[in-house]
Amino acid sequence: MRITALAGGVGGARFLRGLRTHLDATPDLADSELTIIGNTGDDISLFGLRVCPDLDTLLYTLGGGIHEGQGWGRADESHRVQGELAAYGATPQWFALGDLDIGTHIARSQWLAQGLSLSEATTRLAQRWGLPDQRVTVLPMSDSPVETHVVVEDADGQRAVHFQEWWVRMQASLPAQRFVAVGMDRATAAPGVLDAIRHADVVLLPPSNPVVSIGIILGVPGVRDALRGTAAPVVGVSPIIGGMPVRGHADACLAAIGVECTAGAVAGLYEDFLDGWLVSQEDAASVRLPRAQVRGRPLLMTDRAAAAQIAGAALDLALETKRG
Ligand code: GDP
Ligand code: CA
Repeated sequence: MRITALAGGVGGARFLRGLRTHLDATPDLADSELTIIGNTGDDISLFGLRVCPDLDTLLYTLGGGIHEGQGWGRADESHRVQGELAAYGATPQWFALGDLDIGTHIARSQWLAQGLSLSEATTRLAQRWGLPDQRVTVLPMSDSPVETHVVVEDADGQRAVHFQEWWVRMQASLPAQRFVAVGMDRATAAPGVLDAIRHADVVLLPPSNPVVSIGIILGVPGVRDALRGTAAPVVGVSPIIGGMPVRGHADACLAAIGVECTAGAVAGLYEDFLDGWLVSQEDAASVRLPRAQVRGRPLLMTDRAAAAQIAGAALDLALETKRG
């Protein structure tokens, strides 16, 4: 079976690792191919290096190198380089860059400087993490740089800051007025992205941030049309449980686009292509969708086994659902 997923960072990666675990434990599904279309709107250039936080979270999580407690960054990490940068007064200092992680960014930046596309650089990084052996392909949504910026307002008036500055430095404390995907007007989908949706047997939306992860990928020209047009059932998992994001600031992101922070309202963002929506059991009674099947399940990815169960439930829902 060919499964294609759209994903941000931590929520997407934990779900997809669970999906791979579920597939590997199911004899009929073990040879399934998983293609992940990763959000690159979080990407940022720091100290001359290209940093792709969501792609790296996917690679580290699926490749077994992730810091489990944090959900991002490398396990057994040190921060000697960052300490040295701080001693020189080099900025910014609010974005955590571990030494091992910096190795990833140096390798990627060098390949990009040599003329490789982001897709090609990502393929090389994925080899090191053993993803081809797991039948997992990670594709950036686009090879052209797209950066999510956030328009905020304070006493000095309105200004736009990079998404990472808003998310990491400000902890989303200034209300976002709106998000701007800088570079999207010139962006095209990376090679393989649209075909991975069109030719999939199943398309899954992990519980990634609906605005700044999935929402950004949906803005890549052709992606939304491919989701509407594919013969594959499209099934998503709610990142919102009982009116709250499980982690992160999805509530602040939804507020900025005028959408209620509920499982049902998030499904509304996908209503033109969504066939099935997995929600938390407590939300199941209150979510009614005109053209998607709703199913309630425990949705907390407390460990790998829980994530595998959730992924299995999403896949089951997809396999029972016809496109309608
Ligand atoms: P990010 O790029 O690292 O922010 O990660 P994603 O965009 O992929 O995922 C972030 C979303 O995952 C947040 O909105 C969380 O609410 C959601 N999330 C995190 N952990 C869980 C979980 O255990 N269950 C569910 N249902 N959602 C989760
Ligand atoms: Ca992200």
